[in-house]
Amino acid sequence: MSSLSRPQLSGLWSQVTQQLKSRLSHEDFETWIAPLKPLASNGGSVQLAVPNRLVATWIRDHFAEQLSAAWTAAAGRQVRFQFTLPDESAPQGELFPLADVGSPGTVQPSLFDQPASREEAAERPRRSGAGGLIPRYDFAGFVVGTNNQFARAAAIAVSGRPGALYNPFFVFGGVGLGKTHLVNAIGNAIVERDPTQRVQFISTDTFTNRLIDAIARNRVREFKQRMRRIDVLIIDDVQFLAGRERTQEEFFHLFNALYDAGRQIILTSDKFPSEIHGLEERLCNRFSWGLVADIQPPDIETRVAIIERKARDEGITLPIDVASFIATRIDSNVRDLEGALTKLSAWASIHRQEITLDLARELLGNGSEEEGRKPTAEEIEARVTRHFGLRPGELKARRRTRKVAEARHVAMYMMRHYGGMSFPTIGEYLGGRDHSTVVHGCQAVEKRCRDDQTFRTMLAALARMIERG
Ligand code: ADP
Ligand code: MG
Repeated sequence: MSSLSRPQLSGLWSQVTQQLKSRLSHEDFETWIAPLKPLASNGGSVQLAVPNRLVATWIRDHFAEQLSAAWTAAAGRQVRFQFTLPDESAPQGELFPLADVGSPGTVQPSLFDQPASREEAAERPRRSGAGGLIPRYDFAGFVVGTNNQFARAAAIAVSGRPGALYNPFFVFGGVGLGKTHLVNAIGNAIVERDPTQRVQFISTDTFTNRLIDAIARNRVREFKQRMRRIDVLIIDDVQFLAGRERTQEEFFHLFNALYDAGRQIILTSDKFPSEIHGLEERLCNRFSWGLVADIQPPDIETRVAIIERKARDEGITLPIDVASFIATRIDSNVRDLEGALTKLSAWASIHRQEITLDLARELLGNGSEEEGRKPTAEEIEARVTRHFGLRPGELKARRRTRKVAEARHVAMYMMRHYGGMSFPTIGEYLGGRDHSTVVHGCQAVEKRCRDDQTFRTMLAALARMIERG
């Protein structure tokens, strides 16, 4: 298919949007689809203008299939979509390959990826760094919590002495908990320190496909030779080896060759090695030779810290109550946590609204029984007292050690923001203090929130516990 003229393109596009309108909720349509503008279509690709990166990410993760299907129905053929961001519109517009945004997601890469011509252009920023590594997954961006601190510490150790400490290093944990991120961080750290190290990050699926391809083209020997030259081999999601006998066979020999040569092998899986059904005994065995580390779902503090971290990285101004709201609403998976933040932020930016708790409730749903019930002064007092390790009654007393004063300020802030109490009532409750003292206390907390990330995170976590009762 050659290029479409403008009228042809807008005709097709209006058919596409008609279809999507009938399929999506009004809100989804208005938020995500309506802002898109078709710019051009040539060959097998369609270029769409998106208002911002977040919208592109969101569409890729949630509407890619519907969008593709609607286009195919209207135009009678499949295309790939490219997204153009307003601020990046260089002369002809920087192409925004969907496959490059966010985490590797649900989109079929054949439909949603960068156009071949641009891919060949060397100056285009690539998602895949050296050896298939994803550059933005580094240790600095990996938030530590009790759920992942062991795996992270081991990962850092491995990156410092590849091949020498834990071999293989096997990371397991549920979906979206940071396995892929962590093992890429190892690879990135190794390459950064020593660019001569040949690090290869590869998903089990890609490994399998390359092998199948090599078999078909009678190139298995070359494939093996290439793989055996690797210094650090990172294979993602080895649970997908299950039932693939030929791949397991080749992988077994590759494993042995690398291992015997003292090369580092790093594996991830959503299951413990012995729980991967359909995995050969001898591989399962080898997977447990080195160190097996797990990543658990993050606790509330870690979730808040992750949200705040992502917001900061993306330059999103996120009020603290919203951060803690998201962290409470989504309590399993970091990827979903990011999705919620993206959705909120995209909506706010399109509608030129600020991100507020009300907006978060509206978009992400309440989903909680505690809704509408405000915590009482007694509950807040009890929580804060316990959190700061004070004795009962200390918040109301005259005493003024630094710790008590800080706790008292936090209690004031909580009573004001979560208890909805007036300044005088709070002052009265906390040992008959003046209302201006309370105003000052709340301001002190707000100021510290701006300057001190750890404090902010602590406060958000505490707020959630208070809200939950
Ligand atoms: P998995 O491979 O376990 O399914 P990913 O590594 O793809 O999970 O993580 C999903 C998303 O969550 C990624 O965007 C990743 O950066 C993010 N993420 C997960 N854990 C953390 C963490 N501890 N700190 C920061 N981001 C995280
Ligand atoms: Mg993964």
